[in-house]
Amino acid sequence: MADDIKQVVIIGSGPAACTAAIYCARAQLSPIMVMGYEEGGQLVTTPEVGNWPGITGEPSGFDVMQNILNHTKELGVERIYDVVESVDFSDESCKKLYLSGGKKVLTTKAVIIATGARARYLGIDSEAQFKGRGVSACATCDGLFFRNKEVAVIGGGSVAFIEGLFLANLCSKVYLIHRREGFRAEQILVDRVNEKVAEGKMELILNATVKEYVGSELLSGIVLDVKGERRELPVNGVFVAIGHQPATEIFKGQIDLDEKGYIVTSNALPPVTQTSCPGVFAAGDCAFPYYHQAVVAAGSGCKAALDAEHYILGI
Ligand code: NAP
Repeated sequence: MADDIKQVVIIGSGPAACTAAIYCARAQLSPIMVMGYEEGGQLVTTPEVGNWPGITGEPSGFDVMQNILNHTKELGVERIYDVVESVDFSDESCKKLYLSGGKKVLTTKAVIIATGARARYLGIDSEAQFKGRGVSACATCDGLFFRNKEVAVIGGGSVAFIEGLFLANLCSKVYLIHRREGFRAEQILVDRVNEKVAEGKMELILNATVKEYVGSELLSGIVLDVKGERRELPVNGVFVAIGHQPATEIFKGQIDLDEKGYIVTSNALPPVTQTSCPGVFAAGDCAFPYYHQAVVAAGSGCKAALDAEHYILGI
């Protein structure tokens, strides 16, 4: 029935989704957010946020995200705590989103996809065996289990460095293992890690790849290849911080994705967040692989909301 068709449904609950919801609500579009499994997205597990304009003192990502979520609440945005399991965009005027194992259907004119990205793992043998038994992709979530123990962080980007610094305050020693010598991490983070190295709290192992996880029930070590030499490292925890992959599987066949699974948007002239399906827009890390910044995700959420508004109003 036409009355049941919503104006705009936003999939996700991170900075991109919330910003889209704020703009849509203020444009009187009565947006609905489908929140997903983990309210708030990746920012929730960020130990500190030092680059959100206007917020000083490096609050936790959780606190920043609570403020953003509260903003959507104050504007009366309807929130559905469920997961979109499949979509059907074949009817442009009535796009369908299937929730609750397909038992519930939302119909809508416009969709804003802001499903974000998930942590990547190494994909080596025995990784699955030790996930949750010593191998993790989130120091904020699992770091406390390794208080006063030796751990390793894998990766040379900003996330690996932030995770390493966080763990250096909890653990007896943190090895930062990177596959080459150059880092992608911001220089300020490299400087801070070097201070920890000088204090003996951290050690850098460069030109190194993890070959194997070892242990019985729980992880007790890893085997490395360091410049062709085998090295065993006795660690109780390994934090994999090698980037993310977009959470876009459910859109395969409905809209264009690139070879890595990122949603393809028009990206040049407005509507820049337009996907290959008219009225379906994408914002944040599911579509824009380069910057991976919460503030960039929020900015693209704003663009998606404006694009959706113009689509609905036909302007
Ligand atoms: P990233 O910058 O892409 O770094 C990923 C790291 O993992 C790289 O060092 C990469 O090595 C390594 N890597 C990738 N695949 C690997 C594999 N199979 N085995 C071993 N190592 C592998 O990702 P990120 O650290 O998750 O950061 C994502 C984005 O968020 C970046 O743009 C970053 O600047 C941004 N960020 C910024 C802040 C901040 O405070 N400003 C905080 C967090 C994140 P190579 O270098 O050799 O490719």
